[in-house]
Amino acid sequence: MTTRIYAHASAAAAILLTAGACHPDLHPRWIGLSTLFTAVLFAWFARRCYAQARLERAVQQRLEWFHREDDEPFVPPAPCCSFWRHTDRQVHGPDCTRPAGARTTLTSEEEAAFAGLAAAFHRAGGAA
Ligand SMILES: [Zn+2]
Repeated sequence: MTTRIYAHASAAAAILLTAGACHPDLHPRWIGLSTLFTAVLFAWFARRCYAQARLERAVQQRLEWFHREDDEPFVPPAPCCSFWRHTDRQVHGPDCTRPAGARTTLTSEEEAAFAGLAAAFHRAGGAA
């Protein structure tokens, strides 16, 4: 919570300093430039504080989730069908519980396209 307050204060300071640096009556010019530099530092600090606040929030949520007492123990999902389990995840049987569209296996071209998409997704930083 405190980190989020620091982030808001730093963002406000960055905005105010930027507005002050853009004032036309500001002389000499180096004062405006140093004010703008200070605004950039505050913006950088605000970004770090927002990231830290998100991290703290995520850790807090996971700890709350982990310590909930009404949760049942984690049970991994069952395989969709015995064919899938015994054919190295290649074939689905008639008793498969998956939707029909999810039973298909990817061709090599589709796997390459999927790998490319996954690599691009991970390169971009994920779904932040
Ligand atoms: Zn199946």
